[in-house]
Amino acid sequence: MPQKLSKLEEKAIALLLRHQDKGLLQSELWHKLGVTSREGSRIAIRLEKKGMVKRVKEFAKDRWTRRLVPLIRRVTIEPIRGAPCLACEQEHVCGEGGVISPKNCPRLEKWVLESHFTKKSEISQSTQT
Ligand code: SF4
Repeated sequence: MPQKLSKLEEKAIALLLRHQDKGLLQSELWHKLGVTSREGSRIAIRLEKKGMVKRVKEFAKDRWTRRLVPLIRRVTIEPIRGAPCLACEQEHVCGEGGVISPKNCPRLEKWVLESHFTKKSEISQSTQT
């Protein structure tokens, strides 16, 4: 079930998702949100209770503080770009127990294999440079 967020919580999550790997120190987030540390702490605690961030203790700038690391990820369509299912004329008959399904679809299998080898080749080229 989707979590109901306040406007400030939404802004905080949007900022944290821009730093989704390392997160942000809470003071950096308060500054970017334009709120007091007290207000900011409340937002962080609420987001933690909702399971959307992890508050990690960290020594930074000569004091103990918390780093807010998002536990959610930005979703993009990039991984399924070009998938045959998106424009498939057999989609209405495709599924478990149907005439055709993702388990036995040659077009899907071909796309998965091509995507896999393309990605593998891109990774290999980027590690050689
Ligand atoms: S699995 Fe194959 S048949 Fe089913 S929707 Fe995707 S491309 Fe179409």
